[in-house]
Amino acid sequence: RQLNLSDRTYVVMGVANKRSIAWGIAQALAGAGANLIFTYAGERLGENVRTLSETLPGAHHVFPCDITNDEQIEQAFAHMKEAVGTIHGLVHCIAFANKEELEGEYLNVTREGYLLAQNVSAYSFTAVAKAARPLMTEGGSMTTLTYLGGERVVRNYNVMGVAKAALDASVKYLANDLGKDGIRVNAISAGPIRTLAAKGISGFNDVLKEIEEKAPLRKTTTQEEVGDTALFLASDLARGITGEVIHVDGGYNILSLS
Ligand code: NAD
Repeated sequence: RQLNLSDRTYVVMGVANKRSIAWGIAQALAGAGANLIFTYAGERLGENVRTLSETLPGAHHVFPCDITNDEQIEQAFAHMKEAVGTIHGLVHCIAFANKEELEGEYLNVTREGYLLAQNVSAYSFTAVAKAARPLMTEGGSMTTLTYLGGERVVRNYNVMGVAKAALDASVKYLANDLGKDGIRVNAISAGPIRTLAAKGISGFNDVLKEIEEKAPLRKTTTQEEVGDTALFLASDLARGITGEVIHVDGGYNILSLS
């Protein structure tokens, strides 16, 4: 009953292709009957997103929203208001860092690279939370995607780990700000999944192999597993949960190094 989201609208930010975690989440939400609004950066991805969205049941909206551009964020949410009036939540699945700063020693990061990773991967969640709040008149849920590399040192994750730490802290501050409006704010810490963004991280295949060998569930994380947890967080089943980071990683995060 509580997973019937047919009277709800959610914004899905960060579909690049069918391997995107955002796409796994979109499929789970659409499967529960939710209406979806997709946002994307750059016209090339816009085509992908439109084509993918047409494969889902129901009619869905697609709007451009480069997260580094305040005007585009404002316009995207204005389009949403015009199209649907009220939204019940959003999922933010967006991150970026320079490839050359995702290997070697963290301390070689440049000021520019540091600020870029923070801007796209951490600040953007706060920016969209602020833009979404006025449309969430019935309360709801905001979820972002994070990674263990923000809590611990994960080889090569470097500047992105520092950005995820800022994102994790933002989840707590936003949860505290928005709780009084009936809006819950959480993060899913996904285990490694082979996506476009993951391609940029040096040694990614070794990480997947290690998870298969060592994670308590002895398998790597799937898009579907993350999608189902995002669906749970979006639904009323999670009504008592906010400011939380839920690990969907086969239990890998509980292990010590040895
Ligand atoms: P992906 O490449 O499919 O998605 C990343 C998305 O970010 C893309 O759609 C891209 O267009 C978007 N993006 C980048 N810059 C943008 C900008 N300026 N404006 C708007 N959108 C922008 O990869 P993914 O792995 O699905 O990544 C989604 C999220 O999941 C990221 O936050 C990532 O850090 C996180 N995550 C991924 C993994 C993994 O192993 N794949 C694990 C944990 C967390």
